[in-house]
Amino acid sequence: MPGKIRLYDTYQAKVVDFVPIVAGEVSIYYCGPTVYNYAHLGNIRPVLVFDLLGRVLRELGYKVHMISNYTDIDDKIINKALEEKKSEKEVSDFYIAAYEKVLSQLNIIPLEYHPRVSNYIPQIVDFISAIVDKGLAYKTASGDVYFSVKDDPFYGSLSKTKIDDLISGSRVEIGEEKKSPLDFALWKNTSDQGIKFDSSLGKGRPGWHTECVVMINSYFKKPLIDIHGGGFDLKFPHHENEMAQSWAYDGTRLANTWMHVGFLNMNGEKMSKSLGNIVMAQEAIDKFGGNVIRDFYLTTYYRSPVNFTQEAIETATSEVDKYERLMKKFEAKEGLEGIVFTSAFDQESFDKFLSFLADDLNVANALTVLAEVMKNANNLLRNPRSSLDDLSKAFNTYKKMLEVLGFKFEPLLISSQDKETYASYLQARADKDFKRSDELRQLLIAKGLM
Ligand SMILES: [Zn+2]
Repeated sequence: MPGKIRLYDTYQAKVVDFVPIVAGEVSIYYCGPTVYNYAHLGNIRPVLVFDLLGRVLRELGYKVHMISNYTDIDDKIINKALEEKKSEKEVSDFYIAAYEKVLSQLNIIPLEYHPRVSNYIPQIVDFISAIVDKGLAYKTASGDVYFSVKDDPFYGSLSKTKIDDLISGSRVEIGEEKKSPLDFALWKNTSDQGIKFDSSLGKGRPGWHTECVVMINSYFKKPLIDIHGGGFDLKFPHHENEMAQSWAYDGTRLANTWMHVGFLNMNGEKMSKSLGNIVMAQEAIDKFGGNVIRDFYLTTYYRSPVNFTQEAIETATSEVDKYERLMKKFEAKEGLEGIVFTSAFDQESFDKFLSFLADDLNVANALTVLAEVMKNANNLLRNPRSSLDDLSKAFNTYKKMLEVLGFKFEPLLISSQDKETYASYLQARADKDFKRSDELRQLLIAKGLM
């Protein structure tokens, strides 16, 4: 039986014991990007958090089914396509490729599937028609379809917003045909230049809030999954609207656990076009490396806002350097001394590490266990009398912890010349030729081999 995990559920507004719908399995969907532009640094925080969650769940023994969509039908994509004289598909294919490059550089475990809205139009049309039939959505004179928020007694229960407060703060814009300002579009009939689909609802496009519900139902073949989530900004209205449609369609709240990931701030300010402080994900990865970006995000509790500063990125860089240096020391030991580590493993430390991660992804506490393992490993490596078993245990445990956190380092390459230098160093030391041995030692240190 898989290990226990506790997660914060936005709907229940507390940390709860996770109970899977199907024993031993977890179904996860998180909202993906609208592919009309490159991902910025803030966009990838949820991706890294869900990647960590997947790794922890797998380590606990669950079979993980994780998917995330690409929104490839949207006015922003249409505008970009018109601007660049391309088809919507060319635009979305281009940005999907750029996004997938970022995911791979961040060492994100490939998802089970990336559904695209454009492949689910018939299912979306059927879904909307069913909600209209149930009387929870209505068609306007021009053929648009809106969800009737006032007919949903649960509306606001996810984001804890009160309908009355929302209504008093908004109004129906001139030209809109909706009955209440909160009603949101499920289908828009249009004769504009953008991509549109012929359907029983008319010629048009679906609204943004319907696709995820339909793709969840279609892919998982059930109306309720274990975990759904995304960034905090999606909680309202996007996720509230998704939940409303799920209630309307088949009476479920779509997911048992709703997870929301905190914002990224740039030097204490919101990242925005008007402030000119937008950093693209690719740009940050090129500059600092995928491991550093991962460390920067994972060391802050995922629900809290995280602040991107020079200092924070320097801290992350030095942490990652430490991880890599220790990894290389072990590899050098194995390669230079011609030893082979055994499969010895420090289960007790690893279980402690994992149990912190299983406590709503408490990375900070897990890192205290990692720090102990590193301290012990460095002591063992410094001591020439350390046993192979102790060294192997420290190495395997350390390596496994880095893997669960998702760090990835290039393996150390050791040439035959490196081996000769090392042998000469040992000989010089044995001969008590300290000048020579020190020179050779410096050479090995410079190559990251000591
Ligand atoms: Zn969504």
